[in-house]
Amino acid sequence: MHTYEPPIFELSGAGKIGAWLPETGVPETALPADLLRTDDLAGLPELSETEVVRHFTRISQRNFCIDTGMYPLGSCTMKYNPKIHEDAARMPGFAFIHPLQEDTSVQGALRLTYDLQALLAEISGFDQVCLQPAAGAQGEFAGILVFRAYHLDRGDDQRDEVLCPNSAHGTNPATAAMVGFKVVEIATDPRGNVDLADLRAKVGPRTAGLMLTNPNTLGLFDENVHEVAAIVHDAGGLMYGDGANFNAILGIVRPGDVGFDFMHYNLHKTFTTPHGGGGPGCGAVGCKTFLAPYLPGPIVVENDDQYSSFTPEKSIGRLKTFKGNFGMFVRAYTYIRMLGAAGLREISENAVLNANYLRVKLHDLYPVAYDRTCMHEVVLQGKLKGAPDIHTLDIAKRLIDFGFHPPTVYFPISVAESIMIEPTETESKRNLDAFIAAMRQIAREAVESPELLHNAPTTAPVRRLDEVGAARKPILKYDRAAINGLRGDKATTDDQLEQPTY
Ligand SMILES: *Cc1c(COP(=O)(O)O)cnc(C)c1O
Repeated sequence: MHTYEPPIFELSGAGKIGAWLPETGVPETALPADLLRTDDLAGLPELSETEVVRHFTRISQRNFCIDTGMYPLGSCTMKYNPKIHEDAARMPGFAFIHPLQEDTSVQGALRLTYDLQALLAEISGFDQVCLQPAAGAQGEFAGILVFRAYHLDRGDDQRDEVLCPNSAHGTNPATAAMVGFKVVEIATDPRGNVDLADLRAKVGPRTAGLMLTNPNTLGLFDENVHEVAAIVHDAGGLMYGDGANFNAILGIVRPGDVGFDFMHYNLHKTFTTPHGGGGPGCGAVGCKTFLAPYLPGPIVVENDDQYSSFTPEKSIGRLKTFKGNFGMFVRAYTYIRMLGAAGLREISENAVLNANYLRVKLHDLYPVAYDRTCMHEVVLQGKLKGAPDIHTLDIAKRLIDFGFHPPTVYFPISVAESIMIEPTETESKRNLDAFIAAMRQIAREAVESPELLHNAPTTAPVRRLDEVGAARKPILKYDRAAINGLRGDKATTDDQLEQPTY
């Protein structure tokens, strides 16, 4: 074990250089005076190449990521990103094209886009797909704007409400509110389905639509989805499908066949494109023909083997620059083509099998909110027998000491002390067994030595964090004085800091 930890920050020293600009290959031209910098370039760090490389490598080693361990976050589908995607996305014909090129010079890229639209439409049972939105939440925004445009176009201007089951992902009500609708919450029945009586009581001439995540955020397939759709449609409303949990039903159920009019896909969940720090992602959307005229654009079309793009006539408009995150299209396309129809179905079968394996191996110790066959994720509760002082947060933090990223906690909010686990199909039985063993040992420790849980994590670079403070008073850039303030250190300037010795 090495004890010397070189510093990560405060490394700058005047005159150190880590990069060299190449000789210019073009004639030098004088820039207009008003574009020239007049003051000195000050305040930039000055470092050697070695220091920069070590800085970023060390920081990367402190990061827990899908390439280093299991990441059982529920409602996220954090599966591994097949490395062949990167080979495909890096092919010069995809990587070095420019979005302003003429359609005629990028036919291959347009064809891939067109084919991906068609594949997603086929997999989900919709008629038209648009790949423009950059995230699931933006796909939702597109969908609810489309619902509004559709109703208004028919002169149906009394519909100012969107129904959201209380098991919905937070983005659903947020989306409806952002578009300007009133959000009406629908209860969940004892089996974890939409409560039909509550739905019947709240649906009506003011209903623009219902947003349903299916499988829902309890990890359950709504057994009454046909009936929910019929009730909403009978009232003149539309069915929005939140497809973030598509990972559970690929090749088994097509949302377009069970009553949904519109849906978003998270290519960065179901179709293994990287999640990358909030982006770039792709929240593609699909819909039935009658809603297609309102879709965002551009959409790629084919005519006589020529590919071009167009924006539908009554489009809600553009949501993203150019055609969207094209690099993600290449990755998702590669994934779907590599697996084929049978492979896609196998994904879901294994994702569901893995989640149920965890459920069955853990439900004697961790109560399961709705203990019936789940889909690709399972919602446990951190309420352990004989350990009244232990909470879900303690269990999650202790998992870090066992080398696992914690699952999603305290979501869904409708379940007390929820622990939402999505193993995905890409974890081996050996990994699942190790995770189960850790969860079972934590349940024992909770009774026998609860301080181990209360003090966790002990092996991570940082201990228990002030999570409320981090959310309410975030420090979003490196600020030595603020960091010292937080730690209660006296030194507040660089001069007063202990200098590293080499
Ligand atoms: C992740 C998720 C979303 C939001 O998708 P983003 O791509 O993160 O914007 C919406 N609904 C559900 C159920 C999700 O899991």
